[in-house]
Amino acid sequence: MSNTVRIDERLREHLERGITPRLDENGRQVRCLLMYSGGLDSTLAGILLRLQGIDVVAINCFTGFCLTDHKRKMGHERRDGSRYQNEAIVGAAGLQIPVEVVDVREGYLKVLTEPRHGWGSAVNPCIDCRIHMLSHASRELLEEYDAHFIATGEVLGQRPMTQMKRQMKIIERESGLEGMVVRPLCQVALEESIPEQKGWVDRDSLLGINGRGRKEQIRLAEAFGVLDYPQPAGGCCFLTDGNYGRRLKDTIVHLGEKDLDFDDVLVLKVGRHFRLPDGNKLIVGRNQEENELLRSYWHLGLFLAVNGHPGPLALYLGRPESDDLDLALRIVARYSDCPADEEVQLRMMSGEDVTGTRPATPCSRGDERAWQIL
Ligand code: SF4
Repeated sequence: MSNTVRIDERLREHLERGITPRLDENGRQVRCLLMYSGGLDSTLAGILLRLQGIDVVAINCFTGFCLTDHKRKMGHERRDGSRYQNEAIVGAAGLQIPVEVVDVREGYLKVLTEPRHGWGSAVNPCIDCRIHMLSHASRELLEEYDAHFIATGEVLGQRPMTQMKRQMKIIERESGLEGMVVRPLCQVALEESIPEQKGWVDRDSLLGINGRGRKEQIRLAEAFGVLDYPQPAGGCCFLTDGNYGRRLKDTIVHLGEKDLDFDDVLVLKVGRHFRLPDGNKLIVGRNQEENELLRSYWHLGLFLAVNGHPGPLALYLGRPESDDLDLALRIVARYSDCPADEEVQLRMMSGEDVTGTRPATPCSRGDERAWQIL
């Protein structure tokens, strides 16, 4: 299996040329916005709609927390040595449909930190997140694209937090789209939607898949000629990750008077994190890529690095006059290649400018875990 959608040439040609356009009661081409991840389910939903002659525009929402996007930006490679790609852009190209990557970060921090419907197992506010994305599509995009309705690749019962009937109704209602969302893979198991009632979508050509199994989708993929597709991952975004969740909760607890901003939450994706005794924070890069990414957060604090020995770049967030800085230097030295009991000099930097040096002896291996956010 690959990590992007690849479809059979015959299907591609059919989608491109061989379909009679579906018109509404005024003779206008029916168009929908498909909430599109580039995964198998939303790809199949797109095919089912395209085969009805409906114009499909793929909408891929950017929150800043997508795991694949992070790996792509970090230059990570998959097991087969290939590079990560934007799955939505590649998948939409395969389907011959336009795609728009929509930045939905405005207002997202409130969704993240004060979700009306709560977090899942980590800090994933999935119901509020869906409401936020669909509200954005409803407010900003339906009119812009002259689209009739919204579609998703959801499957009833597949995700307990957002894909049960009750939650689906809440999400529709609170995003201002009651009755206007079509879910081609499971619509037959749901109440008839307004687009079906109006004849914009043919209910008889939609499906009623229900449950967590993937057999039906895999069978459909074979039947349609979808040759490759990303494997469904346990977590598609950082917010479902337990480690990330603990870091975010720790950050919220220690915010003080400061308002949370996107840098505060995005820097949590990188490195080992330590909360020091006086409440200051240390982030230690785990490899060259993380060191490089940390550099983009230079404005948040003070960089620390060991002189004369290979070692990590670390970011100290807090008061330089605190005893925490000495402990931070000892932790950074511990992760360098210097001998365990050797006093070393560490440089402190504001961005690229060295603002001073200070000696430290590495803390004993394992001692740093007393402060690590695990
Ligand atoms: S997994 Fe992440 S992106 Fe998906 S709905 Fe939940 S919070 Fe939103």
